[in-house]
Amino acid sequence: MKTEDTITGFDWKYSAAPEAKDHIKLKSQYDLFINGNFVKPNSKKYFATYNPATEEKLAEVAQANAKDVDIAVAAAKNAYDKVWKKMPAKERAKYIFRIARVIQERARELAVIESMDGGKPIRESRDFDVPTAANHFFYYAGWADKLEYAFPNRHPQSLGIAAQIIPWNFPLLMAAWKIAPALATGNTVVLKPAENTPLTALKLAEIIQECELPAGVVNIITGFGDTGAAMVAHPNVNKIAFTGSTDVGKIIQKAIAGTNKKATLELGGKAANIVFDDAPINQAVEGIVNGIFFNQGHVCCAGSRLFVQESVATEVIQKLKARMETLIVGDPLDKNTDIGAINSKEQLDKINDYLKIGSKEGLELFQTSAAIPKKGFYCKPTLFIGAAQSNRVVQEEIFGPVLTIQTFRTIEEVIEKANNIPYGLSAGVWTDKGSKIFNLTSKLRAGVIWANTYNKFDPSSPFGGYKESGFGREGGLHGLMPYLKF
Ligand code: NAP
Ligand code: MG
Repeated sequence: MKTEDTITGFDWKYSAAPEAKDHIKLKSQYDLFINGNFVKPNSKKYFATYNPATEEKLAEVAQANAKDVDIAVAAAKNAYDKVWKKMPAKERAKYIFRIARVIQERARELAVIESMDGGKPIRESRDFDVPTAANHFFYYAGWADKLEYAFPNRHPQSLGIAAQIIPWNFPLLMAAWKIAPALATGNTVVLKPAENTPLTALKLAEIIQECELPAGVVNIITGFGDTGAAMVAHPNVNKIAFTGSTDVGKIIQKAIAGTNKKATLELGGKAANIVFDDAPINQAVEGIVNGIFFNQGHVCCAGSRLFVQESVATEVIQKLKARMETLIVGDPLDKNTDIGAINSKEQLDKINDYLKIGSKEGLELFQTSAAIPKKGFYCKPTLFIGAAQSNRVVQEEIFGPVLTIQTFRTIEEVIEKANNIPYGLSAGVWTDKGSKIFNLTSKLRAGVIWANTYNKFDPSSPFGGYKESGFGREGGLHGLMPYLKF
């Protein structure tokens, strides 16, 4: 079938294949998980979390205030001093291993809740978020009693209490990224999920209870930005682990200036995905789609800036448009869905603002032709063709299924353009030549660079940014270091 035919002749459809959700049991109200129990918040306030695909309320969760934060930190400190710090590392490892196993056992439930609360396609939560979360616990369970081997002759010691604050795009996975290395290194934890997606973190609290972790080793509290700010400001917190926006990262850095709190900040991104004329074009097109459109572009390392070598630009753009026309946007719980719901109304408004900005900047806009659901928050996969470095849609993080396309002639030009941005989290390179890959990886200022693939993750591989994408590494051996003193 010719490419043109694929665009115009796409008139067949998959039948609906919805994942069952009748096995999901959500309480109408969730309390704070502190010292091994679910407790009412001092604030006496609760707020709702919604399903962005249906706009239905799913549950209410407690709103922790500064007093609640204080109680959670006290529980973490007590558990650290009296139990966790003293426990033999191989015993700690067993608890972490147990969490991994129960995540696996409850994988289906967790995946469905993740898709309901955050809007991501079930394929993503089932095949990526949940298994990768379990893998992080497995991986760090293995390190717990081998720290002396990981850092020979350096006598690594835990820091104490870690305050961990996570965003809404990978709620369970981010919780795993944070909690697993903290526990393996002998620290205790107070974690706050994002206000839009608290449910899988609360399910993880249930799992931690089920695994009989000593009370207070992990505390999970829900709330808004001021809850996070109170965690950061708390004098008994020794370590801040934050994943979120660069703006909030800067606020946190200011808040801890002059203290001896350690911090890792995993912030925004605007990755360059670079396609050379010698690349396997069909695979590259698939990698571009995977890099920006799956998971609605709600990925900090999304390949949101496409650079195509001029001689293959027409072909790449034509094939990309054809592939985009086949993407299924809709019900996150349908197993065929490629692009689910945008996480919240605010995020959809932000994306729509950028669509206006890009159009005003004079860029050619392409959106796929299939209709999107009327109810819920959805955005069509979008291209801005003919973009330039100076465009705001190129410079600023949109965090939606929106790809800018620029062309280049030489390798020097594309390195210059790819690096000319405040962010430096990740990048992708598509070429037949290994030498070109090595040349680029040494010159691109990005923490993670994928070659002839995109968005691949493994617990053993470190992840983190350059420049305004933050500092510190999570994952792998490197991910142990921010939780240790030597
Ligand atoms: P965000 O607004 O920065 O929020 C992140 C977390 O911080 C949330 O739990 C938030 O609570 C909390 N928070 C807000 N204000 C705070 C404050 N003053 N002090 C302490 N905590 C505060 O980010 P987001 O919109 O949820 O997530 C999207 C951003 O995260 C994007 O920029 C994306 O690139 C970035 N991200 C980065 C990575 C990475 O690894 N580098 C991974 C995923 C996402 P509320 O939810 O209640 O506001
Ligand atoms: Mg929600």
